[in-house]
Amino acid sequence: MPELPDVAYLKAYLDATSLHQTVEGVEFEDARILEGLSVPEFREALMGRALASSRRYGKYLFAELEPEGGWLVLHFGMSGWLKYSTSGGPPRYGRLFLRLASGSTLTYLSRRKLGMVGLVDKPERLIAQRRLGPDALELDLAGFRNLLRGRRGTVKSLLMDQRRIAGIGNIYSDEVLFQARIHPLAVADSLGAGEGRRLFSQLRRVLWMAAERKADPGRFPRTWLTLRRRPGARCPRSNGKIERLKISGRSAYLCPACQPER
Ligand SMILES: [Zn+2]
Repeated sequence: MPELPDVAYLKAYLDATSLHQTVEGVEFEDARILEGLSVPEFREALMGRALASSRRYGKYLFAELEPEGGWLVLHFGMSGWLKYSTSGGPPRYGRLFLRLASGSTLTYLSRRKLGMVGLVDKPERLIAQRRLGPDALELDLAGFRNLLRGRRGTVKSLLMDQRRIAGIGNIYSDEVLFQARIHPLAVADSLGAGEGRRLFSQLRRVLWMAAERKADPGRFPRTWLTLRRRPGARCPRSNGKIERLKISGRSAYLCPACQPER
């Protein structure tokens, strides 16, 4: 499921492949991903325009349309991705195809039908509409401490709450908590000053490193939990066995030896 590091990678991918090319065709394989406007309206807004720049915020990717402005919005849901292709048939699970001036196609694909494509006049509009919290990589330590203060819920659900902090989902909240050695069910407000600082610094470290490594788990350090998300796997620190917990219907993974319950 695309989280901040994945979307950071997709932004770099979009920038490297598709910027400054005029859109010459817009085709949907499945228009259910389109939100807030009709297919003809969407097509009209994109045709003859170029993707001039891009911006990531939380798990959202925006691409500015020129001339006449407006921004294309992409959200990748559970399994969305981008594929730029210069030849061959359409990629599997393609939902939206943008035909570009070079003859190439930028495809939004999604194995499961979740995710969203839309248009906004500016990214701030969508950020306000969805009431997104600060982007996880733009938050400072003081802001992070404010988030924890007074929160009676678990630290795991706080990290995943897009209205508190934008960009983190199930996989990276597990990794951040494992690296910080904090149990996912710890009450957010109960973390001490040292734990709060540790959680904040691991949050930045994990997200930066993952983005730098193209969000590809094959390139992650061997000391990361993400490579061992199965019950009974050996802890990468070799001091316990990985356990699975169900938290709000999602599977969370942790090492009870590294992340003791308090
Ligand atoms: Zn461990």
